[in-house]
Amino acid sequence: MRRLVVLGAGTAGTMVCNKLRSRLPTDEWSITVVDRDDEHVYQPGLLLMPFGAYRSDELVKPRRRYLPDGVDLVLGEVDRVDAEARTVALVGGRTLEYDYLVIATGTSPRPDQTPGMAEGIAAGNVHEFFTLPGATRLRQALEAFDSGRLVVHVTEMPIKCPVAPLEFTFLADAFFAERGRRDRVEITYVTPLEGAFTKPIASRHLGGMLDERKVHLEPDFVVDRIDPDARTLVSMDEREIDYDLLVTIPLNMGADFLARSGLGDDLNYVPVDKHTLLSKAHDSIFVLGDATDIPASKAGSVAHFEVELFVDNFLAHLDGKPMTRSFDGHANCFIESGHGRALLIDFNYDTEPLPGKYPLPVVGPFTLLAESRINHLGKLGFRWVYWNFLLRGRPVPVPALMSLAGKDAAASSPTAPSAPAGR
Ligand SMILES: Cc1cc2nc3c(=O)[nH]c(=O)nc-3n(C[C@H](O)[C@H](O)[C@H](O)COP(=O)(O)OP(=O)(O)OC[C@H]3O[C@@H](n4cnc5c(N)ncnc54)[C@H](O)[C@@H]3O)c2cc1C
Repeated sequence: MRRLVVLGAGTAGTMVCNKLRSRLPTDEWSITVVDRDDEHVYQPGLLLMPFGAYRSDELVKPRRRYLPDGVDLVLGEVDRVDAEARTVALVGGRTLEYDYLVIATGTSPRPDQTPGMAEGIAAGNVHEFFTLPGATRLRQALEAFDSGRLVVHVTEMPIKCPVAPLEFTFLADAFFAERGRRDRVEITYVTPLEGAFTKPIASRHLGGMLDERKVHLEPDFVVDRIDPDARTLVSMDEREIDYDLLVTIPLNMGADFLARSGLGDDLNYVPVDKHTLLSKAHDSIFVLGDATDIPASKAGSVAHFEVELFVDNFLAHLDGKPMTRSFDGHANCFIESGHGRALLIDFNYDTEPLPGKYPLPVVGPFTLLAESRINHLGKLGFRWVYWNFLLRGRPVPVPALMSLAGKDAAASSPTAPSAPAGR
């Protein structure tokens, strides 16, 4: 019997289990997936939760329900991987042996990495929405916020869903406008980037949307510390921004066990070949989803496209054949813009988000880089697609590789950098 062990039963890990169980004979291969708990959170819903859109039971489901028969779910915290011995040690002493390992342990917000941030969160004066408890608390804070300075802050890139803080800002503008409080709330968007976003065309467009909504943009702000008592954000160059309500995106980092195992970079992301997702250091380890160091967005859509291509490559690799499916960094993401509208961006390693139309049978086309109602409905409808199709590894009519069909390629920026949005 050969052993495949998957670390992380989130978006990527669950899809991999579903896709591979039907392709690897059960009398030849065991599949074991490890996660620290049995609660799968639909993370895109965390953005809308502070604005009253969801209850937590609509966003959290048991992991087991989405895993196929013939996959063993082990609940435990991964402590260390020994890539030479091909073993995974769990906290508490259990050890799992593997022939092949898939690392899909994602990335997590780390408020402990910025002085004052974790203390501010504990004191209830700094907020975040990248965790379920954080998004739940923020809902109460927004309801109670009648007037003052709302600061939305990004600590450092990359973060998962790099557009989420912009979406939060647009939604906050609409939230306060719809309650007749917008003229009493001053909104500032603070980012370490030089503009609203990373890619030139999208950055100009999204920056223009901040202007239209009278949101002040504070670029190039590398945070040094937060003083929760004085309610001040302080940058490395000693700029100070006062807030009444701070919504921060903490530094995002891969799992700590990757550092302990000597597998991660300085943010605990695992170096891989950006086209095959095979570890650069170990021939028996693939890495999928947010846990990699690839220069693509950290997004569920990326995890989905990666998994689609990975399955064929993995089977070829087992047979000693070349891996012929090449991941192109494809990402797509709806961007909520408030008042029941949203934008869509679609891009890859080489092509930045462009305006145009995104063709999709039956429900499309969606509008690229422009606001529309159908895009917003697409974002809301995606939760159903996620639970019923995507996680279960069922086919979704979206190509894994990016297509230029419908895109206005003439709008492409001559100064586009080679790294895509999100890095
Ligand atoms: C607010 C928000 C909005 C988002 N919106 C979108 C969106 O609109 N579109 C989009 O495409 N993406 C969006 N995303 C991003 C998307 O949710 C992630 O990119 C996606 O879930 C990544 O999948 P993953 O499998 O790599 O990681 P995850 O789904 O996070 O899974 C990682 C798993 O590993 C487990 N794990 C980690 N460390 C250990 C350990 N030591 N031991 C045991 N288990 C461990 C975790 O418990 C977790 O279950 C959003 C994210 C957030 C936070």
